[in-house]
Amino acid sequence: MTKEELLNATDLFLLDLDGTVYLSDTPIVGVGETLHKLRTMGKQLVYLTNNSSRTRAEYEEKLTRLGLFGTGDDVYTSALAAASFLEKRYAGAAVYALATDAVRAELIRCGVRLTEEKPEICLLAYDTQITFAKMKRFNEFLAAGAVYVATHPDDVCPTDGVSMPDVGSFIALFERSSGRRPDVICGKPYSVMGECIGQKYRVPAARTCMVGDRMHTDIRFGNRSGMKTLLVLSGETTRQSMRSFPDTPDLVLPDLTKIF
Ligand SMILES: [Mg+2]
Repeated sequence: MTKEELLNATDLFLLDLDGTVYLSDTPIVGVGETLHKLRTMGKQLVYLTNNSSRTRAEYEEKLTRLGLFGTGDDVYTSALAAASFLEKRYAGAAVYALATDAVRAELIRCGVRLTEEKPEICLLAYDTQITFAKMKRFNEFLAAGAVYVATHPDDVCPTDGVSMPDVGSFIALFERSSGRRPDVICGKPYSVMGECIGQKYRVPAARTCMVGDRMHTDIRFGNRSGMKTLLVLSGETTRQSMRSFPDTPDLVLPDLTKIF
């Protein structure tokens, strides 16, 4: 697919964050102008991240500070997808959430009923304030048979130094301790997030394009969800390494600014 064909076929761009619009705290050079041009063409922009350690408002603040957030833009995280999933499938259920204080407050605002005792659901988010006491309780609730929902599967979270353990690493830990694997994983590449996006923004998957730098999350997610996919080589993936994955993106560009 050419970039002109991709632009003509897309009303909603889902934009991964790190490696796609910025690297850590530095915007990809020129990407602000590219995003502005997409907005003036009438394209809707939604930043889509698996990282469930921060709230929508915290991401909006960061994107605004970096000059990347514009009128009409939105942010959607795997924690919001989990809240939407719980509301649809387990409305009113008591949930024990391993999550940061800010994300716990966001889950409550989304209507999730949090509890510290006898939950029907255990929700594993990216809790960068995790303690052993929290892990012990989570493990006990898993062993007692609570439905197990994880926000996303990423093993590590990229950072300037050594990558940090992310939710996938905690999934492995709780598998060793409880024998349980998540019953549902919400974030990229899984379908829950795609279904939530379709319902929230009311744009058909065929008119949606997922833009990202990771083959096994961003591109697999877009392909599985029936969306267009644009791989940018400004982050994790190279032209060599992309060949070792089963998915094929519709378009590959050095970075998002090359869409024009
Ligand atoms: Mg990324």
